[in-house]
Amino acid sequence: MKRMRLPLIALAAAGALALSACATGGTPGGEETTTPEPEPTFEAGTTMAELAEAGSITIGTKFDQPLFGLKGPSGDPEGFDVEIGKIIASELGIAEEGIEWKESVSANREPFIQNGEVDLVVATYTINDKRKEVVSFAGPYYMAGQSILVLADNEDIESEDDLVGQPVCSVTGSTPAAKLAEIGAEPVLTDTYSNCLEPLRSGAVVAVSTDNVILAGLAAQNEGEFKVVGEPFTEEPYGIGVTLEDTEFRMWINDVLEEAYEDGRYEEAWNATAGTVLPFVDPPAPDRY
Ligand code: GLU
Repeated sequence: MKRMRLPLIALAAAGALALSACATGGTPGGEETTTPEPEPTFEAGTTMAELAEAGSITIGTKFDQPLFGLKGPSGDPEGFDVEIGKIIASELGIAEEGIEWKESVSANREPFIQNGEVDLVVATYTINDKRKEVVSFAGPYYMAGQSILVLADNEDIESEDDLVGQPVCSVTGSTPAAKLAEIGAEPVLTDTYSNCLEPLRSGAVVAVSTDNVILAGLAAQNEGEFKVVGEPFTEEPYGIGVTLEDTEFRMWINDVLEEAYEDGRYEEAWNATAGTVLPFVDPPAPDRY
């Protein structure tokens, strides 16, 4: 069955409204910020053809990470990862109403992709060789790095060296959790980074450690309470996770990313979300491995 489409004129008007809302400081949630492709055609049997035909897509993302994926008042998440997901959906001809957002915490991203619970994951998801054994990645579309969050009045912790032998909160199944163990810190693990904030406030841990951009979001959300210290001490290239075998879909998403870099949609997505706190940097070229 053919999916329902809004008249193009209405979509264009909604897009213009959304743009002017951004220009006057409006937030990106709620409004239609991407315009679906009019009639994309894909080779039969590809994931792209199947999703386009269904007119719907399920995207895994974070629901508790300000700037990248944070559940908004509408119930849908908002943030840079969410906007990347919307760009991909729009290239499949899928309107925002056709996107089902599924909360994917760090530890369930691979299983969600493997068992088909999501069509793709955009969730501050580092590309690495271990994960590439079980899923595939388009991208990277952003380069983050592991950093440290402490209480605003902490004068003792300035770098990862100061974490050795100390209780530090991070998340199960994440790359920072593994790095903390490697450097000799005492990882205290939970399922989401927002769950690390109470232990930090109470002194049960001395720091929270994960990607700098996640920590920047948590610091901005809780103004004056926390600070990010030191320089990033790892490289975390963010990718879009898809099933291991689906090379066509992965390569197609790389094409979409490159188009969005070229035509300004990537920068627009950044400026409306993470760009409210963090500077824009030119995106890395996708790795077409
Ligand atoms: N980028 C890291 C990872 O993929 C940390 C952030 C996260 O857990 O989402 O494990």
